[in-house]
Amino acid sequence: MQNGNTMNNTTPHITNTAEQTIWNILANIEDPEIPVLTITDLGIVRNVQITADATTIFITPTYSGCPATDMIATNIKMALLAAGYKNIILTTILSPAWTTDWMTATGKQKLKDYGIAAPNKQFIIPADGVQCPHCNSHHTKLISEFGSTACKALYQCQQCKEPFDYFKCH
Ligand SMILES: [Zn+2]
Repeated sequence: MQNGNTMNNTTPHITNTAEQTIWNILANIEDPEIPVLTITDLGIVRNVQITADATTIFITPTYSGCPATDMIATNIKMALLAAGYKNIILTTILSPAWTTDWMTATGKQKLKDYGIAAPNKQFIIPADGVQCPHCNSHHTKLISEFGSTACKALYQCQQCKEPFDYFKCH
């Protein structure tokens, strides 16, 4: 055994290559509302379980009332069916609730690069003070509780005057 190598090779949550293969497939599934983000960027996939009878994917939606959740479940099934998996079970875990802490750092950065302000933990819609994804100013104003889709609110930056969406669910 080589000293040190085991420490560098850290993939703590993935126990075998069969599960890794599924995580790799899931890492390519886009979020329906924000195509720059994958479902693993969002951190909504909680676990993957493979038994002789079935492949079970555990997901926690970001917001339970959002229609995109059904679309994500369908996209997961279709991707796994296309890869040759059968008996795919989608299990929704509602507790503990999803928080933005589960988003990867890459996911948060992609959201910002895409020009959307990342959600806060409570999904409240602040009247102002959401950080502008374009110039980083906090001098922003709520224009409409509904932005380009029902899951986004529209703000305008008072600094750079750019309008931007705030991701309140997905
Ligand atoms: Zn701005």
